[in-house]
Amino acid sequence: MYNPLKVGHLSGKFTTTHPAIDMSWVGDNVVDPPIHAWRDGVVVQSAFEYLGGNVMAILHEVPGADYDYLTRYAHLKSRGKVIKDKVLGDTIIGVGGHTGIRSDGRPMPNHLHFEIWKIPKGYVFTTINGHGADRTKYAVDPQLLMSSNMRGEGFRMVPITLSNTAKAKILAAKLQCRDLPGLASIKFPGYLAQGASYPFYGSVVVDGYKWAELRVNNRIVYAAMADKTTGAAWIEVTDPTKEIIKTVEIIKEVERPIDVFGNLGDLHIVIQRGVK
Ligand SMILES: [Zn+2]
Repeated sequence: MYNPLKVGHLSGKFTTTHPAIDMSWVGDNVVDPPIHAWRDGVVVQSAFEYLGGNVMAILHEVPGADYDYLTRYAHLKSRGKVIKDKVLGDTIIGVGGHTGIRSDGRPMPNHLHFEIWKIPKGYVFTTINGHGADRTKYAVDPQLLMSSNMRGEGFRMVPITLSNTAKAKILAAKLQCRDLPGLASIKFPGYLAQGASYPFYGSVVVDGYKWAELRVNNRIVYAAMADKTTGAAWIEVTDPTKEIIKTVEIIKEVERPIDVFGNLGDLHIVIQRGVK
């Protein structure tokens, strides 16, 4: 995962009404910053929109998983790719700018509006659903899926506050972590520290391994939870929210069972409801 803007700061957070983050370079001695692809993918939108100005969207397939990712980059000064172009992660896809119209009528400041959607496999992006309910439905907080802290490229991050997050303790020595679940994903250099604990968001089974979704240095990484052959645990999960989740589970069981470990979206919703 690559940071689409290399130098700048967070100027707008992910909220229910703004399912994206805004990244500004105003005050950072940057002019016409290049905008980079978040990771390998195929361009599925390159168009001018009334609100978003020059907008690009890229579909990122996640081999072996039951979901893919889609990223959108708005208010670009110029677009450097067309639909169906294949791009590698970190490729320059355009130049940051201030195109588009703000809904409140004020001038658009220089910034990148950046969305990440976690979409079901086979999802077809169209400009119509790009503006509508699908964004709200699929958008996830891009801050959790960015690598700026680890790359240290001058990005001023606003810290993410987490409460009541389950923790994953690393039991194994030399446990590798990856940018996505599955053996085909990119391995990060180095290993997770044995005995350390990291926030745990859930797990997914890919390539016969159960992969934990962890937050390490403000980025999301994946690590195998157990030896596929012997079943020996490499990661142990402790969940301080268990009581809360259990309570909500009983209430919601009437509608449908909650797959706490299989669905990141549900887990977040459950925690929020429990705390409030
Ligand atoms: Zn925005």
